[in-house]
Amino acid sequence: MVEQKKNPRKSLLWYCVIVLAVIALLNTILMPQLNRMQTKEVDYSTFLDMLDEGKIAKVQMEGETIAFVSNDEQDPFIYMTGAWDDPDLVDRLRTAGVDFGKVVPKEESPWISLLFGLILPTALLWGAGYLLMRNMQKKMGGPNAMSFGKSNAKIYVAAQTGKTFADVAGEDEAKEALKEIVDFLHDPKKYESIGASMPKGALLVGPPGTGKTLLAQAVAGEAHVPFFSISGSEFVEMFVGMGAAKVRDLFKQAQDKAPCIVFIDEIDTIGKKRDGAGFTGNDEREQTLNQLLTEMDGFDGRKGVVILAATNRPDSLDKALLRPGRFDRRIPVELPDLKGREAILRVHAQDVKMGPDIDFAAIARATAGASGAELANIINEAALRAVRMGRYAVTQEDLEESVEVVIAGYQRKSAVIPPKEKQIVAYHEIGHALVAARQTNSAPVAKITIVPRTSGALGYTMQVPEDESVLMSKEEIFNKIATLTGGRSAEELVFGTCTSGASNDIEQATKLARSMITKLGMSDTFGMIALETESNKYLGGDSSMACSEGTAQAVDQEAISLIRKAHEKAISILKENMAPLHELAHYLLEKETITGEEFMAILKKYDEKPALEQNTKE
Ligand code: ADP
Ligand code: MG
Ligand code: ZN
Repeated sequence: MVEQKKNPRKSLLWYCVIVLAVIALLNTILMPQLNRMQTKEVDYSTFLDMLDEGKIAKVQMEGETIAFVSNDEQDPFIYMTGAWDDPDLVDRLRTAGVDFGKVVPKEESPWISLLFGLILPTALLWGAGYLLMRNMQKKMGGPNAMSFGKSNAKIYVAAQTGKTFADVAGEDEAKEALKEIVDFLHDPKKYESIGASMPKGALLVGPPGTGKTLLAQAVAGEAHVPFFSISGSEFVEMFVGMGAAKVRDLFKQAQDKAPCIVFIDEIDTIGKKRDGAGFTGNDEREQTLNQLLTEMDGFDGRKGVVILAATNRPDSLDKALLRPGRFDRRIPVELPDLKGREAILRVHAQDVKMGPDIDFAAIARATAGASGAELANIINEAALRAVRMGRYAVTQEDLEESVEVVIAGYQRKSAVIPPKEKQIVAYHEIGHALVAARQTNSAPVAKITIVPRTSGALGYTMQVPEDESVLMSKEEIFNKIATLTGGRSAEELVFGTCTSGASNDIEQATKLARSMITKLGMSDTFGMIALETESNKYLGGDSSMACSEGTAQAVDQEAISLIRKAHEKAISILKENMAPLHELAHYLLEKETITGEEFMAILKKYDEKPALEQNTKE
């Protein structure tokens, strides 16, 4: 959508070169005309000789010097000679019929040199600059010449974004809210007659890749009104002090074109909280933000200018932006749920040739937590894989593999792993899966693999939650921690030692345990006290402790004992399942990848045998 601009620096260079060339040309053409006659010093006797020969046409005597020209038309020189104390000279000249008069042209006028040395080049340069600027303005789309700081907000009309609400799958609530805005722009009278005025601004908030930009484009496609789109970073892009001017101009343009939509993407770049902290504040950004606030207050909402903005860091936004009359409507755009994921997969699959065996629901189930952008990527990876395999359509296998690619990176077939280590990895992964399967509340296993991935994982257990539950009970979280410790537990039980392979498990388990205590109010010691504050919820979340040092120590103690308990639970589960652990690990070693069904089939065999036999078998 962005027009390719010519590099303005390059054209500036060209202008300079041309101007210099013109000046040089003028110099060579005009200057010789001006000092056409060159001077030549001769001695007094030469002067007298020439006088005798009657060659002198005109003399000029000035103090000590005599300047004269010859009467030979071809002779370009002005001759100069020192004056001689010669009282008869004037008479001699008279008798020779020499004219007296001006010989030396009025000394190289300072005006002319000023004109050619300074004024002309300046005028030329100025003119060139003017042309250049006007050219740039034209390219940037500003209508008037010589007004720097025109915003380069692009005007979209319906046909240009080409996106409609049909392109956005799921996100029904967000679409509903936006449809109201579109409806208002189509028929403002309906709202006016009842006295309702549309909110001036709506803020789309949600994690990256959930379709916020896409939604705004869809609004543009549906609304059939001009759509100004600018990204927050563009406000602070070019020249210092231009941000505020750009905001002013953007709103002026918008008001001229009302009804219309203004979309500010990534608004957090300009809308960050202003901090009073002395010199650290970013003046430029602050001015831009102030201008934005002023403009939002200044225009009449009923005129039909609706401002949409998107951000994935709503908590970093300045409070002033969010108060009523500005972005008073918040439209959450969350990660898609099971149905949403399936719908998104289907939307993107429309552009790709799909085989007949595709089960979108299964893929959607395997991708809990994936964003719309990741799902779009999965479809594309599957299509690429199909091409690599020389197929004409995407199969279910392609999709399954690409889910893993997006989650865990590409398979690293070439990596050579010593057999002993491979064995450890197999036991580790089966350990996770067994602990998960034996805890009734844990999700069943979908797939276990020990094929190393480019992400560095040596193997992994893919768990697929059966239902799309949003709440997790204390027991479920504890079981999840136990599952995470299951890998290390298996290593300890079988090999009597532990390896570095569990670092990621440990990190995750620690995070879960701590959040149980500090955020979820699930510890007996502390109860429902928030001991941690979280910012940046949509971008992974940075949390900081909000408690005294002593409490922080107690939290650490509590987390340690929680994980120890989970670890003990995992060990005891595995101890009771040593036989299936060995069989499954060997089976996995042989196959490298086993599915959830194969896993459960083997596990089932042991359920039918009495517990005693199980123990003696080990
Ligand atoms: P955001 O602005 O929220 O970071 P984008 O709108 O740029 O995310 O989304 C990136 C891409 O992900 C889109 O171009 C689209 O292909 C895909 N996508 C995201 N959400 C959806 C959705 N709900 N339906 C269809 N495609 C989606
Ligand atoms: Mg975006
Ligand atoms: Zn592990």
